[in-house]
Amino acid sequence: MKGSALYSIFSLKCPRCHQGKLFDTSVFDYAHPLSMGSTCTVCHQKYELEPGFYWGAMFVSYGVSAFMMFGLIALFFFGLNTSLEAAFGWTIAIIVILFVYILRLSRSIWIHLFVKYNKNWQHE
Ligand SMILES: [Zn+2]
Repeated sequence: MKGSALYSIFSLKCPRCHQGKLFDTSVFDYAHPLSMGSTCTVCHQKYELEPGFYWGAMFVSYGVSAFMMFGLIALFFFGLNTSLEAAFGWTIAIIVILFVYILRLSRSIWIHLFVKYNKNWQHE
């Protein structure tokens, strides 16, 4: 749903205005996986709150990847009745394809923890 924090996190939008994009290249641009603007193009929120701000996002990405891996393996193995080897194979393939998105999602989750939505951003 537009305007909700979850929508903003998963669509990689600015945490403050939910309109600007956090990243300025496509999710499938593997050459520039973490190319972020320094500020939001819509509300001018700073994206790098302090030097090394996204260091902590690494831990989020471990959590997100592990969560997704277990979820996908369970889905293939129990939901689709594949062999365990096939479940691992498909899961790794999907994680590799979604790798850039997972990295970006982790940064998105991270900045949303620190910057809250402000629907009156135009007036501040
Ligand atoms: Zn913004």
